[in-house]
Amino acid sequence: MNRDRLSAWLTACEKLLGAGSVNAPLRPGPGNGGTNVSLFRSRCAPATVQPTTAAQVRHVLRTLSEEAPGVSVYPVSTGRNWGLGSAEPVDDGAVVLDLSRMDRIRSLDIELGLAVVEPGVTQGRLARALQDTPVMLNVTASSAHTSVVGNALDRGVGLRRQRCDDIIGLEVALPDGTEVRVGAWPDEETPRAPYPHGLGPGLVPLFLQSNLGVVTAAVVKLLPRPEHSRVVAVRFAVEDVESAVDGLRHLYTRGLAHGVLKIYSASAVGVYGGPPRSEYVAYICVDGVASVVAAALAEVERVLGDSGLFTDFRYLSPTDQGADVVEDVVLHALIGDPSRNDAMLRAIFGVDAHEVDATGDQGWLFFLPMIPFTGRAVAQARALLDKVREATGVDCGMTVNAITTDSIDLVVSIRFTRNSGEAETAHRALDLLYEWFPAQGFVPYRVDIDHMGRVPALRSHPGQSRLMELLKTALDPQSLISPGRYPAFPHH
Ligand SMILES: Cc1cc2nc3c(=O)[nH]c(=O)nc-3n(C[C@H](O)[C@H](O)[C@H](O)COP(=O)(O)OP(=O)(O)OC[C@H]3O[C@@H](n4cnc5c(N)ncnc54)[C@H](O)[C@@H]3O)c2cc1C
Repeated sequence: MNRDRLSAWLTACEKLLGAGSVNAPLRPGPGNGGTNVSLFRSRCAPATVQPTTAAQVRHVLRTLSEEAPGVSVYPVSTGRNWGLGSAEPVDDGAVVLDLSRMDRIRSLDIELGLAVVEPGVTQGRLARALQDTPVMLNVTASSAHTSVVGNALDRGVGLRRQRCDDIIGLEVALPDGTEVRVGAWPDEETPRAPYPHGLGPGLVPLFLQSNLGVVTAAVVKLLPRPEHSRVVAVRFAVEDVESAVDGLRHLYTRGLAHGVLKIYSASAVGVYGGPPRSEYVAYICVDGVASVVAAALAEVERVLGDSGLFTDFRYLSPTDQGADVVEDVVLHALIGDPSRNDAMLRAIFGVDAHEVDATGDQGWLFFLPMIPFTGRAVAQARALLDKVREATGVDCGMTVNAITTDSIDLVVSIRFTRNSGEAETAHRALDLLYEWFPAQGFVPYRVDIDHMGRVPALRSHPGQSRLMELLKTALDPQSLISPGRYPAFPHH
């Protein structure tokens, strides 16, 4: 990359976008992982450009190839992709295109349950805008200050379903600086059904976990707010995990329970800032009108009680104060309220969301395999985590998020003290997870910046990489956008 051209281009960007919109460089250079909370290799300090409108984003892209050949941009929404790289680009030298100042809720349609939001809109802000309405946002357990769009684009997981299922339309700036809207887009003059598929091949998924464009706005499908919800919390012993998971699945396949089933392993609650436990805890949500909820709860109690595996039955309302920070998040987030999430974040990191990367002595890593929703698969995963503990001494937290009746987003979390030998051991444990889980068919569905090079080998068929390469070459021949992110082939 030609540094003079980069610097001239950044000066031109600042002229266009206004004072304070360009930072170069942002963070400390090479060393022990810069300032991302995961301590992923921070190779050199990235420059940052902060546009405030979609037109500015398109302009930035248009000028990129002409005025700064060889430079690429790495768009982030709020850049709080903690555990996976935060706002750090995959490719050394990419300029971070920080979209957090594009924070307009462009429109809200409560009747059809649609919000058009820009990348900087946080889940806290959108959730507040929906308070006391019949619809709610599918919120995650991360900070209220994280983005709706960025999380969904990386296929994050909320308490109700996987976030990408909430996205029905996208406004995208293509690498040549042109605009395209894909999927469904609300039209006030001529109302249309919020039907994402359109005609021909679906185009929305092209921009999920993708480096083919910069998303400047998204149409988010909001969920009907349940009339009544109750949450059953139960415990079970570590050695019963296989039968317990099978028993819990039965509730979901029979339609008795709703949203994402959450199970925290004995150590996971402690990793997330709650009190350490010796048993697993599961949260099962039941929604509906009052009579239906009452009938379903009776059946849940009967099924789980008859199995003899579960203890400590508690029947909670999502507005109750949870017994600990983690429970408090689960209860409230289930009804679209992320207002408790930052208390959990503070319990983990000891600082607020905007300080997690820059300060604090706690480090954080995620490994996120998708595994079948069967007791056998969860027990197998547990055994692999035990093997990692024996090899490294790292006791990973394990959270089961059953996102459908077939698939579990298994959240493996590692917390470590940053300025200590623990950091290196934590990263060694992560490398082992990337080796041992895929070998058993448990492939990650979302990858951190240090392990992006493994993505091609993790795809289910090698032809997919060739197809990805054809798409990338057609849309972004100069590789201007997020090089190395979910790449066609290992990136050099
Ligand atoms: C305690 C804790 C709990 C957590 N709980 C959850 C949870 O329940 N569910 C969950 O999913 N995650 C969770 N996380 C992880 C993480 O914090 C969230 O996923 C968070 O929402 C991601 O940050 P963000 O929203 O700022 O997205 P960003 O960091 O802005 O975006 C993520 C990635 O998407 C791409 N991208 C973003 N915006 C654009 C764009 N406009 N155009 C093109 N590409 C783009 C970029 O490559 C970026 O790196 C948790 C983390 C912690 C520490």
